[in-house]
Amino acid sequence: MSESAPIQLFAKQQKIYPKRVWGRYRKIKWLVMIVTLGIYYFAPFLRWDRGANAPDQAILIDMPNRRAYFFFIEIWPQEVYYLTGILILAAVALFCVTSLAGRVWCGYFCFQTVWTDLFVWVERLVQGDRNARKKLDESRWSFTKLRKKALTHVIWLLIGLCTGGAWVFYFNDAPTLFEQIMHFDVPMSVMWWIIAFTFTTYLMAGFAREQVCTYMCPYARFQSAMFDRDTLIIGYDAQRGEPRGKGKRTSPSHAWLRHHETRSEDRASLEPVSLHEQEASAGNNRKIGDCIDCSLCVQVCPMGIDIRDGLQYECIACGLCIDACNSVMDKIDLPRGLIRYDTTTNQEARDAGAPVASSWSHILRPRTFYYAAIMALVGGIMLYSLLTRSPLELHILHDRNPLYVLLSDGSIRNGYDVKILNKTHEDKTYTLTLDGIENATLTIQGAGHLSPDALPVFADSIGHFRLFITASKPAGGRHTITLRITDRDTQLSHERKSLFVSDQ
Ligand code: SF4
Ligand code: SF4
Repeated sequence: MSESAPIQLFAKQQKIYPKRVWGRYRKIKWLVMIVTLGIYYFAPFLRWDRGANAPDQAILIDMPNRRAYFFFIEIWPQEVYYLTGILILAAVALFCVTSLAGRVWCGYFCFQTVWTDLFVWVERLVQGDRNARKKLDESRWSFTKLRKKALTHVIWLLIGLCTGGAWVFYFNDAPTLFEQIMHFDVPMSVMWWIIAFTFTTYLMAGFAREQVCTYMCPYARFQSAMFDRDTLIIGYDAQRGEPRGKGKRTSPSHAWLRHHETRSEDRASLEPVSLHEQEASAGNNRKIGDCIDCSLCVQVCPMGIDIRDGLQYECIACGLCIDACNSVMDKIDLPRGLIRYDTTTNQEARDAGAPVASSWSHILRPRTFYYAAIMALVGGIMLYSLLTRSPLELHILHDRNPLYVLLSDGSIRNGYDVKILNKTHEDKTYTLTLDGIENATLTIQGAGHLSPDALPVFADSIGHFRLFITASKPAGGRHTITLRITDRDTQLSHERKSLFVSDQ
C-alpha cells in the first residue's frame, strides 16, 4: 500500500502584487474606505452636550468611571445587556447580508480589508504598479530600492500610529489626549496601547494581509453555512468563457449571449448553444470562448486566486476581478459580465436555457425573513428598554448571616445593603420608604446625620447605604417587603422587593 502524502495545513506565503484596476467595484471600495476611515479617525472628536457633570465626547468608553457613551445613550456596567443586544444585532445582520450578498463584509468593510487596501495603495504610490513592485523586489539592493522601501515602511508606520492613536481616543477625552500627544506628555498606559496598535496595524496590513483572512479569521471558514443557492456570489461564466484562449472571437459566445438576452417569451424558439454544439458546428475552425486568458482577473486579485477555478474560500467577494474582466471585455468589444455577481440558481438556469428569476427572488426568501424578524425583535426590545430606561435604580441585598437579630426589647432587626443608582447628571436626594410591615423603623447605619427621608447621591454615581429595619416580632417567619426610593424633586420612584426575616 502506497503511503499518502501528509495533509498540508499551512502554505508558505507567496507575496501578492495586486495590480491597479479601475471600475465600478473599485470606486465603491474607495468610497467605503474613505467613509469608514473618516469615521474611525474623526468620530472621537465629535462633541455631545450632556450637561455640566458628564463628558461631552459623543463616543466614549470611560473605563475609570465605568461608563460607555454613544451620543444620547449612556450605558452603566449594570446595563451590559445592551452590549449583548448590539452583538446579537451585529451577528444576525452579518448573517443576513452574507446570505444575500455573500462576503461583501469581507470585501468592502472588514478593517483588515480596508487597511490592507490602504497599505497596498501606499506601496503602489511609492514603488509603482504590480510589475514595478515585482521588479523592485527581485532587484539587488541599491539606493533607489532602499529609498522606496524605507519610504513605504515609514508611511505604513505613520498610518499605524494614527490608527493606534485614534483607538485610544475612544477611551479618553480626545482633544485633551491629542494635546498631550503633541507635547509628548502621554500617560504610560496610553503609550503602550498606541505602540501595540501601531505595530499590529503595521504587521497585519503590511505583511500578513491575505494570510489573516485565510488562516486567522474564522468567518471565512463558516461563511459557507450561510450560503445557499440564492446567495449572490462572484463567479466566472465558464459556459461563455471556455474554452479560453487567445485569438479572434467568433460566433459561439455571441450566440449564447443572444440566447440569454432574448426576452423570455421568445426563448422557447431558441435552444441554448452548448460548447459541444459550438465545437461540432465549428468544424475545423476551432471556436473559442470569451476568455482571452489575459490573467488580468488574477493579477488584480488581492487574495492571489484565479476565480476561473470556481468559488474558493479565499475569495473575499471584493469584485475587483469583475472590474478587470469588464475592462478587457470593453477593449475586445464583447459584452461585460464574463465574471459577475450572480446566484447559483440563476447561473444554472442560464446554463440550462431556462428563464432567470427576478432579482427580488433572491432577497425575498424565508431565510431573509427569519433574520429580519430576529433583528426587529432584538432591536425592538433594546429600543423599548432604552426609551423606558429609568434615571434611578434601587438595589437591595439582605444580610445572609445573621438573617435577623433579636433585640433586648423583643423586637427583630434585619440588615440590608442598599445601593441607589443616580443616573442623572445632577446631585439628588431620595426618600426611602417601606411597605409590608406595620410600625417598622428604618435607620441608616454609620451616619448619624443621615435619615431615610433624605439620602443624598451625587450626580452620575452610586450611593451605598447600610440599612436596618426594626419591627416588633410579626407572626410568621418571612415577610415580603417593598422598599421604595423617591426623588424628592421629581417624585420619580423605583422599588424593589425583599424579605424581612423574624424566625429561622
Ligand atoms: S477572486 Fe479575488 S478579486 Fe475576485 S472577488 Fe474574489 S478576492 Fe476579489
Ligand atoms: S480577465 Fe476576463 S478575459 Fe482575462 S483571464 Fe480573466 S476571465 Fe479571462
